[in-house]
Amino acid sequence: MKIYFHTLTSMDQLQKKCFARSYQGVRQQYSCEFVNNLLEVPFDTPSDTAIVFVVASPYDFETIKGLTLPKNVLIIVAYYLHEKDFISIHIDMLDAFEHQNVHVIYPNVVLHQLRYPSAAKIIDTVIHNTIRSKFISIQESTEIQKYMPEALEVEFNRMKEISNIIKKHNLNPDHYAGSIAVRAGQGTLITSTRTDKSMIPDDRISYIIDCECTKNEITWAGTNRPSSEASMAYLAFKEIDSAKVLLHFHFKPMTYSPRLNLYRTCRYEPYGTYLEARRVVNKLKKSDGFAIAKGHGEIFIAETIHQLSDKIDAVLAFLNIEN
Ligand SMILES: [Zn+2]
Repeated sequence: MKIYFHTLTSMDQLQKKCFARSYQGVRQQYSCEFVNNLLEVPFDTPSDTAIVFVVASPYDFETIKGLTLPKNVLIIVAYYLHEKDFISIHIDMLDAFEHQNVHVIYPNVVLHQLRYPSAAKIIDTVIHNTIRSKFISIQESTEIQKYMPEALEVEFNRMKEISNIIKKHNLNPDHYAGSIAVRAGQGTLITSTRTDKSMIPDDRISYIIDCECTKNEITWAGTNRPSSEASMAYLAFKEIDSAKVLLHFHFKPMTYSPRLNLYRTCRYEPYGTYLEARRVVNKLKKSDGFAIAKGHGEIFIAETIHQLSDKIDAVLAFLNIEN
């Protein structure tokens, strides 16, 4: 996969350095190049190509509007505008790209503050919108039941019960994000990648038979690839005996709340990597089964679904959130 960064006019040396540094973490699978002009992007690009524009001024925005954007590649527009510029052009920006193959990344407005995505997070968005999972995938079988001591239907119903917790509190505004996992026999049953957690179809659960976590290599069964956070769930169940169920969602009032700093990992780690799984599991061990992957989302583990629900209720109550 190839990622081009279009430098526009205002990307300075420091920003370039940040992008180059965070891209290093995924160097094996992706190549990355800085270009000043769209003519430098080959006309005949394969579909797993992305072009990223970093907008840092209203002038940059006008420049992009004047360009003819290639149709067969994913275009990502990320922006770092200061508050006044953000307010004045935010809606224009979303409108301008609405009907194109463009994904706009804008600062999150959380607790009345603008929070800018890091270079690593922008690269993750590109990957998430193209090839999605980062692990080396080894599909051993399409049959899940043969690996499990319990009837698959029983475990599947448990996963649906967990999805009701998300629905009850509206914890996952993007229903396709996050993951639900349960310990099952020697392995882990987990939602497949890109699964609607509010209504899990029968064929969208996968069984992780084994995971070479440090190599990010996953051996699995099922018809669809497991969630991109499969290694995190596998590692949590492997190292924490009492963990039987796991829920991962993206709920911004928790992800960014300064009142939950104790539970947050110390830095943003690219999603779906061993380093992210390692840091989250270390945190889960120290903080009673609740961790926040910085700039990403929440992970809860528990022995029972009832306990899981209680833990989430307690955090919502702590934050005075009633939803
Ligand atoms: Zn996530």
